[in-house]
Amino acid sequence: MSDQPTQCPYCLRVLHSSDLESIHQDEDGFMCHDCWREGNTFACCRCRDDGDNEDKHKMLVVFESTAARFGAEIGPGVYRIANNPYWESDILNSWLVSEHLERLCDLPKDLIDPDPDYPCGHLCLECQTAIINGVEVPEGAV
Ligand SMILES: [Zn+2]
Ligand SMILES: [Zn+2]
Repeated sequence: MSDQPTQCPYCLRVLHSSDLESIHQDEDGFMCHDCWREGNTFACCRCRDDGDNEDKHKMLVVFESTAARFGAEIGPGVYRIANNPYWESDILNSWLVSEHLERLCDLPKDLIDPDPDYPCGHLCLECQTAIINGVEVPEGAV
């Protein structure tokens, strides 16, 4: 293809040859790496690295007790998302679907709440694995 993109259609940033290497292309066209990152990754609440959105909805970290279906509450901890949707909402509120969440463990101490306005967070695949391994190996065991 001789028609090299020269500008990202989303942020209008002029693309240099180094940008072109990390460009993302799909059926809707292309976007620069920064725009792709914004739409397709999230900040892990354990290591702060970018997690892939594909892995985001496998595990849920609940930082503060959060409303669940039928007026119940889900307490802080790490949950495996067993089924979707794991949350529902109406015009005013949203709540978690506890039937679709499996409690894995208490809130690990090394998590950082990334968004004080949102009681839940997500983990990158690496941290999900670390937490699953941590659940299987009791604390103090090597
Ligand atoms: Zn862009
Ligand atoms: Zn992580």
